[in-house]
Amino acid sequence: GVTTRNGANYYSKAVIVATGTYLGGRVYIGEVNYQSGPEGMSPSLLLSDSIKNKGIHLRRMKTGTPARVHKDSIDYSKMEIQPGDKEIVPFSFLNMEKKYDIDQVPCYLTYTTDAAHQIIRDNLGRSPMFSGYIEGVGPRYCPSIEDKVVKFSNRDKHQVFIEPEGLSTKEMYIQGVSSSLPEEVQIQIYKRIDGLENVEFMRTAYAIEYDSIDPTILKRSLEHKEIQNLFFAGQINGSSGYEEAAAQGLMAGINASLNIQGKEPFIIDRSEGYIGVLIDDLVTKGTDEPYRMMTSRAEYRLTLRQDNADLRLTKKGYELGLVTQERYDLTIKKEELINKELMRLKKIIITPTEKTNNMLLELKSSPLKNAVSLYELIKRPEISYESSLIFDPDREALLKEIRLQVETQIKYEGYIKKQMIQIEQFKRLENRALDINIDYSKVKGLSNEALQKLTKIKPESVGQASRISGVSPSDINVLLIYLEQRRRGASLV
Ligand SMILES: Cc1cc2nc3c(=O)[nH]c(=O)nc-3n(C[C@H](O)[C@H](O)[C@H](O)COP(=O)(O)OP(=O)(O)OC[C@H]3O[C@@H](n4cnc5c(N)ncnc54)[C@H](O)[C@@H]3O)c2cc1C
Repeated sequence: GVTTRNGANYYSKAVIVATGTYLGGRVYIGEVNYQSGPEGMSPSLLLSDSIKNKGIHLRRMKTGTPARVHKDSIDYSKMEIQPGDKEIVPFSFLNMEKKYDIDQVPCYLTYTTDAAHQIIRDNLGRSPMFSGYIEGVGPRYCPSIEDKVVKFSNRDKHQVFIEPEGLSTKEMYIQGVSSSLPEEVQIQIYKRIDGLENVEFMRTAYAIEYDSIDPTILKRSLEHKEIQNLFFAGQINGSSGYEEAAAQGLMAGINASLNIQGKEPFIIDRSEGYIGVLIDDLVTKGTDEPYRMMTSRAEYRLTLRQDNADLRLTKKGYELGLVTQERYDLTIKKEELINKELMRLKKIIITPTEKTNNMLLELKSSPLKNAVSLYELIKRPEISYESSLIFDPDREALLKEIRLQVETQIKYEGYIKKQMIQIEQFKRLENRALDINIDYSKVKGLSNEALQKLTKIKPESVGQASRISGVSPSDINVLLIYLEQRRRGASLV
């Protein structure tokens, strides 16, 4: 359980630590720095020691935020308007067919100037990042403006997006200009951005440094490898970002609950969802800088599409008791309709008659020499599921999300099949479970580096072992031989 600063005890069978940027939080604005959580919230100062007392090493990371400025102090005529999406795609699959007619508020695009860069260069000595006060490493993919000016010194301008904070506030978020320079320097920089000449600050930009753990001490369930029922999730695991944190919180919550019930952990692997890629990267490779989830980190991107997230994950959620019967039934129905339509299209045969070839010409497609199924015809880049209606006039009108799946699955069939073969190979190694208590010094033939890394990371599968940096394919072969020998030895006993 948990004991609070006031001495109150909360008894529980499992604990999930999700302290965000509050743990040992320290805010930096130029020469000023003080203990604080984000946005002036109270930091968490005692917990770091009790985590360290458990033998868990903590390290510093940092992140930052730009200033918020007054909406009416901006000259939008000097900026490019950035309207919202023409077609609003809802987040939930349950809302796919809903029509949205919302008055959207636009963002604006502007740029930093040479004059702004000069002020940054002149004041670098006052930046706690460059003067060495901040020891924490910041996120590579959301650098501060001073970081960008130093690292990309050949650029004479950087993009700045002006984003409304909400409908009921005058605050505007100045995306791309986070900074830990002193407030008066920040104001000078912002005033040299096109359209911000008369800008009025409402909140200053700042950097925040916080404590995080090395996530390789965790299992894939996000439970500590040695301390049972202690879980970690979110920023404390070295990630940064809302979705990254939410995904881990969900998985830690599910696994804490399963642990308490004495059930097997719930793992999403790298081929099943981005959650799997995120957690596997963190617990297998660790991270020296705030980790952000990007699609490029996934090797099975063709399968991990946002349009098929419901088809990939709803069943898993249902089995865990987290998805309602209604939602589950809808997904099953959707899957059936997609498969039925794919089968139907395979059965429609288009023969090379004058009429069909003329129709193909109309679609700017080459004439047929042999009969083909409509399914095959839709594979042609110039023919879409919609335009193929001329060959299939009695087609039943299907929901847009089903039409989209049908078209995607047909067009990318070849690539998806190839990826499925790779996924099968991946699963073979992934399904070879490794006992986390294996004594790797007994595995003869491992390189020294592999021995050290395997002993430290304690992978839970051969697949996970193969992704540890420093563990080579030949180490994996040695490991497979060892497992085989152990299996035979065990079967002889
Ligand atoms: C200034 C700033 C700007 C950011 N901008 C973005 C952005 O634009 N986009 C993006 O994706 N991400 C952004 N992030 C990152 C994002 O906010 C975090 O990655 C995410 O919120 C982390 O989620 P979490 O659940 O780990 O922690 P948090 O959301 O930080 O939640 C931690 C919670 O734990 C509580 N807590 C901490 N310690 C204790 C304790 N000892 N006792 C009791 N309660 C405690 C805190 O009060 C808080 O409610 C930003 C972060 C900061 C600091």
